[in-house]
Amino acid sequence: MPDYKIETLCVQAGYEPKNGEPRVLPIYQSTTYKYDTAEHVGDLFDLKAEGHMYSRISNPTLEAVEKKMAALEGGSGALLCSSGQAANTIAILNICKAGQNIVSLPAIYGGTINLFAVSFKKLGIEVRFTKPGMTDEEIESLIDENTRLIFGETIANPALTVMDIERYANLAHKHDIPLFVDNTFATPIFCRPFEFGADVVIHSTTKYMDGHASCVGGVIIDSGKFNWANGKFPELTEVDESYHGVRYVNDFGNENAYITKARVQLMRDYGMIPSPFSAFILNLGLESLHVRMERHSENAMKVAKFLEGHEKIASVNYPALESSADYALAQKYFPNGCCGVISFIMKGGRDAAVKVMNKLDLAKIVVHVADARTCVLHPASMTHRQLTDEQLVAAGVDPGLVRFSVGIENADDIIADLKQALDA
Ligand SMILES: *Cc1c(COP(=O)(O)O)cnc(C)c1O
Repeated sequence: MPDYKIETLCVQAGYEPKNGEPRVLPIYQSTTYKYDTAEHVGDLFDLKAEGHMYSRISNPTLEAVEKKMAALEGGSGALLCSSGQAANTIAILNICKAGQNIVSLPAIYGGTINLFAVSFKKLGIEVRFTKPGMTDEEIESLIDENTRLIFGETIANPALTVMDIERYANLAHKHDIPLFVDNTFATPIFCRPFEFGADVVIHSTTKYMDGHASCVGGVIIDSGKFNWANGKFPELTEVDESYHGVRYVNDFGNENAYITKARVQLMRDYGMIPSPFSAFILNLGLESLHVRMERHSENAMKVAKFLEGHEKIASVNYPALESSADYALAQKYFPNGCCGVISFIMKGGRDAAVKVMNKLDLAKIVVHVADARTCVLHPASMTHRQLTDEQLVAAGVDPGLVRFSVGIENADDIIADLKQALDA
């Protein structure tokens, strides 16, 4: 495909029908593939021949969407997973095992914190969380010879802090380890972390990429630029006994090694694969991602400005607002727009937050963010309800904090809904 702009890639990349084939990406709802000879299947098993063999490893519908994902982020290859959680799990376990550790920014998605602090811990993998405001030296002091990667989110869910991607990429590369970035909230429409030195990008496609709250999904994308043969990643350079002597960097090239191993070893063994139908739905979402993100961003800015001027609101957090502590970073990493998620704190605290939420009509209370419909969530009484008010503040979640996910409806209607709820 020529060097198209991202809007064109959203619509066209990944699937190129040949003469007489369906114009729209077909759903290959088949677990298996037919071959003429046993020898050919043997070659597929040995990874000597290219082709699909079993849909836990690969499938033509998924393959087309993976190519589109790689094109959107500017990477060398991608692997679709059954959820964002699955994507983070496979991405990290691909180069990390018991006795090793990773360094993570502290403001990340709650589900990822649980994965790191509870499930990875049980596997013998230690996650070392940085603290806000740490110097480079303090962060480097967390890195030792068993550290495998640095992890963070472009725009953190739900804290909405902005990651200084270049800074963490430089720190990681100084120690010959890759930087992994969860780019779920920014999407490649607003930020492409590879352009700032990130090495692996992960998404929960459940959010803006699907865009309609229809399918849970995830994806891992490799930039293809990290040098996996630098001596620190023997799992990618030495023989994989489970594949009769395959050596990923040697046999598939440095730019394909990481994704190939994730697919044929981890996906083979863990099986966290989406269905062809889910991949088809995801592709429909991707076809309008660029149009929707523009509207999410425009609407969120209007809503943020309205909230900032309202007497019952103590503070508004939206990285694209000049009043945001992360405004300079937001301007650097996504100058053309920000996600649709905003958070605000009510002057009246927890009670006022609950009252406003209950009065909202267009904005529905759901446990989700980042889709076409405006929705709202009160962490203190929903996702973080086990915590006392003191614990909430320690976790950076004010009891009066409301997370507001601005959809792609008419902005005036969204603001009118907020106005009537706040005035009531
Ligand atoms: C939702 C989310 C996840 C988890 O994704 P699921 O698809 O729900 O498994 C991971 N990271 C971020 C930033 C998210 O918002």
